[in-house]
Amino acid sequence: MAAKPKILIVGAGPCGLTAALELTRRGFNARIIDKERGPTPLSKAVGISPHSLEILEPSGVTERLLAEGIRMTGVQARYERRLLASIDLSRLPHRFNFLLSLPQSETETVMEEVLGASGVRVEWNVELTAVRLAGAKVETELKGAAGGTFDYVFAADGAHSRVREILGLGFSGYTHKRTWSIADATIPDWPFPEATAMAVLHPTGDLGFIIPIGPKRFRTVSNTPEALSQIPGTDSAQVSQSDTFHIPVRQADRYQAGGVFLGGDAAHVHSPIGARGMNLGIEDAQAFARRLAEGRLDGYTAERHPIGHRWIVLSERMLAGVQTANPLAIPLRNLAIRTIGRLPALQRPMLERVAGLRE
Ligand SMILES: Cc1cc2nc3c(=O)[nH]c(=O)nc-3n(C[C@H](O)[C@H](O)[C@H](O)COP(=O)(O)OP(=O)(O)OC[C@H]3O[C@@H](n4cnc5c(N)ncnc54)[C@H](O)[C@@H]3O)c2cc1C
Repeated sequence: MAAKPKILIVGAGPCGLTAALELTRRGFNARIIDKERGPTPLSKAVGISPHSLEILEPSGVTERLLAEGIRMTGVQARYERRLLASIDLSRLPHRFNFLLSLPQSETETVMEEVLGASGVRVEWNVELTAVRLAGAKVETELKGAAGGTFDYVFAADGAHSRVREILGLGFSGYTHKRTWSIADATIPDWPFPEATAMAVLHPTGDLGFIIPIGPKRFRTVSNTPEALSQIPGTDSAQVSQSDTFHIPVRQADRYQAGGVFLGGDAAHVHSPIGARGMNLGIEDAQAFARRLAEGRLDGYTAERHPIGHRWIVLSERMLAGVQTANPLAIPLRNLAIRTIGRLPALQRPMLERVAGLRE
């Protein structure tokens, strides 16, 4: 019988943790390292798609996520305070007919605990410092633990991937100029429906999103430096954490070099519209583990690159639509949103994409 391959996963964010869970349940032994001390303390991505829940179900993660998260069953779009559309997510043709809302810090903690229960410990405080392709093998150097030679390295080391950089894999694209902001807040007097995400568009092209993440707790995101200022009904908000950021839109030219494979933000980054960032990474990791088990790893780029590319194109189109300040375009955009809101048949393709059920 052939010896089991030696595998190193670099990065214990949602993508690397999914790779470890998926490889472990298929009987592979993988090491997983991360240069940080533990899971992210930040709430970062909050929407878990039905497809990600499906992927994480056999390892036992989904059951725990469902117990902790909020089932978002609706999405509203507003133009200032006026309701343009109210979309019922329970129409999703799936047994998980909702988006699960849970801060990324909690998602990662659950994943790490389930992984630990199956006997795999994340090696925190261990950083990959060098990687070389050596024939069919991959040589690595680590800080904080012994490196060595592996058959495969799965690089889930985030947008600033060291692995991608050392191997000289292109990451072409651009960064949007607007400063975005994010804030998590408790809002005791929230006047809109619970368990519903909301997008609020303004004539200036400024916008805000608000997503429930706990009882009276919300995540707000905006394309302005003050996330809460774009959302009506937030006068009683008490902010617990906030930050500003710029949106990079980039994709690795290829996801494989020899025995090294890229997944998650190391492979693609784009706007948070549609909540696909973390979910695409979870899907990449599952595809890597499945293909390794099937002996078909060479098709990894051909499978995953077009999916990442399609989402980047679509999310950029959506971003341009919701950010427009063109007085001629706004009424047409709002009419389109109203029409989609009234006709469930028109909602279905987009809902299925956001849910990860259609690529
Ligand atoms: C403020 C903020 C808000 C966000 N909001 C959303 C959202 O609403 N919806 C959404 O879908 N996405 C959102 N995202 C993006 C989402 O967080 C990412 O898509 C997701 O974290 C990507 O997961 P990942 O596992 O690929 O990478 P990461 O989560 O970035 O994990 C990479 C890991 O690799 C480790 N690492 C890096 N280099 C090395 C090295 N050399 N050696 C060892 N370890 C290393 C890092 O410490 C890190 O733990 C947000 C991101 C931020 C920053």
